[in-house]
Amino acid sequence: MMLIVDDVEINRVVLRQFFKDEYTIIEASNGKEALSIIDQQPISIVLVDLVMPVMDGFEVLSRMKSRDDYMNIPVVVMTAANDDSSEAKAMEMGAADFIVKPYNPTIVRCRIKNVMARQENEWRKIEQVAKDKQIVEMHRYIERDQLTGVYNREIFYQKASALMQEDRDTRYAIIYFDISCFKVINDLFHVETGNLILKTAAVYFQSILSDGRGICGRMEADHFTLCVPSGKFDMNQVIEGLDATIQSLGISHNILFYAGVYPVDNVFLPVDQMCDRAHMAMNRVKGNYLQRYAYYDDSMRDLMLEEQMITRDMEFALQEHQFSIYLQPVCNLHTDRVVSAEALVRWNHPSHGMISPARFVPVFERNGFIVRLDRFVWEEACRFMHDAAEQGLNPVPVSVNVSRVNFYNFDLLQYLLGLIERYELKPDMLRLEVTESAYTDNPHQLMEVVRDLRQHGFKVLMDDFGSGYSSLNMLKDLPVDTLKIDMAFVHEVESSSRANTIMRSIITMAKGLDMSTIVEGVETQAQIDFLDSIGCEDIQGYYFSRPLPEAEFKGLLARNKKGIGVHQA
Ligand code: C2E
Ligand code: CA
Ligand code: CA
Repeated sequence: MMLIVDDVEINRVVLRQFFKDEYTIIEASNGKEALSIIDQQPISIVLVDLVMPVMDGFEVLSRMKSRDDYMNIPVVVMTAANDDSSEAKAMEMGAADFIVKPYNPTIVRCRIKNVMARQENEWRKIEQVAKDKQIVEMHRYIERDQLTGVYNREIFYQKASALMQEDRDTRYAIIYFDISCFKVINDLFHVETGNLILKTAAVYFQSILSDGRGICGRMEADHFTLCVPSGKFDMNQVIEGLDATIQSLGISHNILFYAGVYPVDNVFLPVDQMCDRAHMAMNRVKGNYLQRYAYYDDSMRDLMLEEQMITRDMEFALQEHQFSIYLQPVCNLHTDRVVSAEALVRWNHPSHGMISPARFVPVFERNGFIVRLDRFVWEEACRFMHDAAEQGLNPVPVSVNVSRVNFYNFDLLQYLLGLIERYELKPDMLRLEVTESAYTDNPHQLMEVVRDLRQHGFKVLMDDFGSGYSSLNMLKDLPVDTLKIDMAFVHEVESSSRANTIMRSIITMAKGLDMSTIVEGVETQAQIDFLDSIGCEDIQGYYFSRPLPEAEFKGLLARNKKGIGVHQA
């Protein structure tokens, strides 16, 4: 569509003749008319006379070039012969070309053709730029995490791998970030609050990467990763900066970021595995108030492999009777006689030998298998007491560990009652050890269950007393029969007068509250002397005996019955 603007009709007629076969022609007799036509129609080219009444060609040109939507319409100006200065001015103002009156048909056609060819090129370019922009946007859409704008997981893996392999002279590290209790924040506040935290964190990460060497990704939920040159950041500063940034949001909840760092030693390792390693390092400190980041080392990989082995083999092991109990006596330090025992589980693995419960119990607590293992141990303990009684040995009460997960099962009491009935035991023969930290986790529910158990005649012991935090405060309304004092105390009484004092007051307090005590981990005569001096009598520890296989423990019971102490020949 060609717009011809000239106040002299004959000029318009001539031009129309030239172009009527190639263009739809629209005419206007002054600039004002022209602009209103441009407003309404998609015009491909404007031929405009410079000298006109109402609004001249310069004015049309200048208005068109000042508007985004018109500036790309080519404008060819028409001038009288020998008016060089007008031509120059029009060209400066953005005219595509000029044609001179009187019109030479060949020249005019050629010039317009050229202008259109150039213009089409321009349009193609513009279109291409728009397309490119769209593609970039689209990529951004696919590559970026929708919420925070950092790379999504897959793209992070790709980009990190490319970055590290292209820049082989630089050592890189993968840093994994996670927020403690993010779920709680989402529950306590609105989802928007959680989102705000994530977005703010992403902005912070982007800002520390602003020099361009390093990338950031969001793995899932509240997990972010960075791939950066090793040693680029002081981790303390990064965490401090992150804390300060998040605190500035004014959310009334303590939001803590934890980080794990994997210094990349093999750039060909798949990045997801690098992230796993950084994640593993992070898990080592997560929940720790003082240490907020950790570095990955190979011992962590070994731990992970071991955990996998444990999880893989546990079911089969239970079926195949690879678990058994050992019994460790609790002795009276004056009489040297066994007063009770603790059943401790042992795993005799066909290819890994004896595995310590300190290694597999935490894994089972995480994966839930501990409930089944505990029940197995309780039953073994009951069976043992039953057998010992049958064999005419006066069995002592045996305590078993009750992992906290058991308290989420409603049938705990019923299960235990069934057990003692089946093995014809009085409930006070089966003692239940509940670790102190379980009380701090969920005090009300746990106290209720414990009350119930005690009402039915079971004795409840608080295990590892003194290792947790709020224990002293809780003692006043705590329904337990016995405190088992954590071995950390007794191991320090010789070197620390503070431990000494604390131990002394715990014993006094327990007596005042009508609770008995057992001191764990006693190994030396000096410790025995001290405990004796503060009035402790019941002792569990290597000083008397290590945990023993059933048969050996029965030997101890037999001596007990004859009145022979543990240390007596
Ligand atoms: P715990 O319940 O505090 O058990 C006491 C641990 O201290 C036992 O380690 C015992 O062998 C050890 N010990 C005893 N006397 C001494 C001593 O004089 N010095 C030192 N250094 N250590 C001593 P064990 O058998 O390796 O058990 C470790 C932990 O595993 C137990 O700590 C308990 O938390 C858990 N555990 C063991 N058996 C079971 C079970 O059947 N169920 C559950 N849930 N946990 C269990
Ligand atoms: Ca215990
Ligand atoms: Ca203990």
